[in-house]
Amino acid sequence: MRTRRLFYENVYLREFEAEVLSCGKDERGQYVVLDQTAFYPEGGGQPADLGTLYPVDGDNKCAVLDVQYGGQDEKEIRHYVDVLPSECQRVRGVLDWERRFDLMQQHSGEHIVSGFIHRKYGYDNVGFHMGEEVITIDLNGLLDEGQLHQIEQEVNNYIWTDRRARVFFPDREEKNVLPYRSKKELTGEVRLVEFPGGDLCACCGLHVESTGEIGLVKLLSVKHFREGVRIEMAAGKRALGLLHQHLEANSRVASMLSVKPDGTPAAVQRLQDEIYSLKGEILALRQQQFAMRAKQCEGRGNVLLLEHALDAADIRKEADAVLDVCGGICVVITLEDSQKDPEKKNTGGKYAAGQRNGDVRALVKEMNETLSGRGGGKPFFAQGSLQADRAVIKSFFEEKGFVIVDDASGA
Ligand SMILES: [Zn+2]
Repeated sequence: MRTRRLFYENVYLREFEAEVLSCGKDERGQYVVLDQTAFYPEGGGQPADLGTLYPVDGDNKCAVLDVQYGGQDEKEIRHYVDVLPSECQRVRGVLDWERRFDLMQQHSGEHIVSGFIHRKYGYDNVGFHMGEEVITIDLNGLLDEGQLHQIEQEVNNYIWTDRRARVFFPDREEKNVLPYRSKKELTGEVRLVEFPGGDLCACCGLHVESTGEIGLVKLLSVKHFREGVRIEMAAGKRALGLLHQHLEANSRVASMLSVKPDGTPAAVQRLQDEIYSLKGEILALRQQQFAMRAKQCEGRGNVLLLEHALDAADIRKEADAVLDVCGGICVVITLEDSQKDPEKKNTGGKYAAGQRNGDVRALVKEMNETLSGRGGGKPFFAQGSLQADRAVIKSFFEEKGFVIVDDASGA
């Protein structure tokens, strides 16, 4: 017996009673087959409905986790559930209606957007995905932001005229002459969904009955994808949710920057300018610091410089500047901020070691072994990281007769 598809008779049906025809298990899980159902099985780009089955004379309930066509001829509608209704023949099915209505709003909105684009630019919808957050439409032609904005206007103007949707099965003759959109060449019975003056498309999914129910269509972005573009959109309550989310995010940014909500772009621009000029100042100060270190170490032979808050590139620059003039090996170690206090135990650091026309490999190997380090490089220059106390590091280099320049002690 084939399940009666109540979802095609009344898309607004959110509760129904049904007889359990059979229960079973396949690779997706355990499922229930009913004599009739309002649960839409995944198809035509529309996700399956979710909800609950309540056994009429039992007190357990079964969560519907997925609904799929299955069985021999893919005609059986399988409701995948967390638990099977035990020894019961009759169930009351209740849909997660908010979710279903949202999917109808998205799906109808998508059809109308695709229909308008098809009519205006001749592009086909070659891919469609109803995600949890946004809907994506892939088109086989190019659109820019301006064109997208225009389509959005036209689509919204259209849906506000509140046209009634029509779902019908054309006869052979009609099928041959009607200019409907379709992803593939269709044989056999074709189900057409028409939004008069907006779109005509072959579809097995569920739609709102009048376009006003879509409420709002927001086209969020357009970017190059394969041979054409991918559009992101949201319709109905989802569009409202997004508006809320973005307003909230902007108002938080505004309050952090102490400006009015419409003042955030200018305020962020000011911050960026400020960061840019601060970065320039830091760069100049660093150059001065490297020059000063070089002067401090000039002609002193093997030197160790203990620094803090330098990144790997800066350590390298400082080592370069110093080893040019010290006349020996130069090791720069930058210790993490927690180590700036000489009393504090170490958490880690980075190092650079080099010698003009020399070979630091033996020293680096010993450093790595003694100071829990790792790293290496060329014979004359190496970089890496280590884990050791400031005191241990200093005594390691003192024993080797290095001159120690310690940023924290001011030496
Ligand atoms: Zn569709």
